[in-house]
Amino acid sequence: MTNTRYDILIVGAGHNGLVAATYLAKAGKKVLVLEQRDRAGGQLATDTLGDSSFDPLHAGAQLRPDIVDALGLTRHGLAYEAATPYVSLQPDGKRLHLSTTPGDAATLESIRQFSAADAARWPEFVAFMDRAAAFLDAAYRTPMPRLPHVGLAEGWPLAKLAWTLRRLGGRDMFRVIRAMSMSTVEFTEEWFESEQVKAAVAAVGIHGHTLGSMSAGTGYTLMHNWLNRGGLAQRPVVGGNGKVADALVAAFKAAGGELRTSAGVERILVDSLRVSGVRLDNGEEIAATTVLSAADPRRTLLGLVGAPELPPDFVWQVQSIKMRGAVAKVHLLTNGNHGLPAGTLAIAPTLKYLERAYDAAKYGELAANPYLEATTAGKVVSIHVQSAPYKLRGIGWEEARATIERTAVAIVAGQFPALEASVREVRTITAADLEQQYGLSEGDMNHGQLILDQMFFMRPLPGWSNHATPVDGLYLCGSGSHGGGGISGAAGRNAAQAVLKGKPGA
Ligand SMILES: Cc1cc2nc3c(=O)[nH]c(=O)nc-3n(C[C@H](O)[C@H](O)[C@H](O)COP(=O)(O)OP(=O)(O)OC[C@H]3O[C@@H](n4cnc5c(N)ncnc54)[C@H](O)[C@@H]3O)c2cc1C
Repeated sequence: MTNTRYDILIVGAGHNGLVAATYLAKAGKKVLVLEQRDRAGGQLATDTLGDSSFDPLHAGAQLRPDIVDALGLTRHGLAYEAATPYVSLQPDGKRLHLSTTPGDAATLESIRQFSAADAARWPEFVAFMDRAAAFLDAAYRTPMPRLPHVGLAEGWPLAKLAWTLRRLGGRDMFRVIRAMSMSTVEFTEEWFESEQVKAAVAAVGIHGHTLGSMSAGTGYTLMHNWLNRGGLAQRPVVGGNGKVADALVAAFKAAGGELRTSAGVERILVDSLRVSGVRLDNGEEIAATTVLSAADPRRTLLGLVGAPELPPDFVWQVQSIKMRGAVAKVHLLTNGNHGLPAGTLAIAPTLKYLERAYDAAKYGELAANPYLEATTAGKVVSIHVQSAPYKLRGIGWEEARATIERTAVAIVAGQFPALEASVREVRTITAADLEQQYGLSEGDMNHGQLILDQMFFMRPLPGWSNHATPVDGLYLCGSGSHGGGGISGAAGRNAAQAVLKGKPGA
């Protein structure tokens, strides 16, 4: 085994792995990050299609401002474009423009096409959602207790979180707690009367989740996505999402960290429930007494550690983590004359449309009328497609891929007729590709569904929300742990802080 030259090894150079690595390197630790792919960034890594570079998975990527500041990412080139519009495309050709910028007169005018009452409520709704998102942000930075054992060390941050909730005021406190368990149908119906406004908002609640607008808990996922997006629209990174990874890698290296790409970890080495290092795909072994994994919990614990090394009841719990990918992404390289405007363009006309799109996923089918979100970057048009479930019934992935492409292009071209003739090349990424190329179990982009029984002190598992595992020295720092999923860096930041403090509550 290679001599112990490193204090800490990190498996996976997704943004969370890099955030954790940079915090630890800045704290003076000798850190090595090992990434299986030929580039860093995980789901944020930029790719090329023809002569164009594009973001293959995610249309925007905002890290939490405190992380950007603490790691000096602006100095390393990270910058965001101005917020783009969020537009819900209606079947009759009408367009609902929704901005969450206070006082945006064009938004109120656009909502008035459908309901004057909804336009009047919009500013109050946005202000409430911003406060709810701020509460969620506080929750994501609070170490969660290892229930049922709440010691003083964990009780104090929880008390502070309860105070943050209390400070929202009696009415908001009640509304936030209640909304978390509600469906987006119930939640939006309490705010708005027009179907178009309700569905446009509800769509953001199910974006990336294998849930429908009627699923309990989509009130929570709406707040979660609102927090991560900074509202409704995707906010593009200047130069593409790969620049987030570039800035993180630069900050990490400036702090003395080392990164190896094309270095897949085949095994996390464990001796009597104590981590001792890793073995790479090429057989090389690297020793360390602390290992953080940014891969998803199931892949980490069952795939890289292995069930025989873990307590049987813990193995059973890990097997029960719900991983359910149901998203595909269709990318079209065009000649540039696609006709789509800039912004986040949603096909989400009614609440029932969203629910039916999800129904298909429940039965292992492709949605005939999927919920779509289209964005553009130069000549590339990217279409997010839901639902296209990982566990397909009665159809293979090659046939499914062709159907997904045909359906997505036909629906968007129904609104922008120039699109079809402009297409030069198509690349589609399915849930099966997400598993094979990005190492995501069942193609679950969030490393585990964000649902009520897998959030806060239950993420990834009840009793293990403090990033620790039953293996001494092995921690989880990816989206499957508390603070994730999605793009924010919160899980990586929290894990680094837990490691630096020592294993809390263990
Ligand atoms: C189509 C799509 C749309 C999305 N939309 C949104 C959205 O609107 N809002 C939002 O917040 N989020 C969205 N997400 C989710 C978001 O992109 C992810 O949750 C986030 O990027 C995960 O980041 P991560 O750093 O935790 O993990 P990842 O980016 O998954 O990184 C994990 C890394 O670990 C590496 N790895 C795995 N196994 C090994 C191994 N054995 N050895 C070495 N390396 C390994 C992988 O190669 C990868 O680089 C979307 C995702 C997709 C796919």
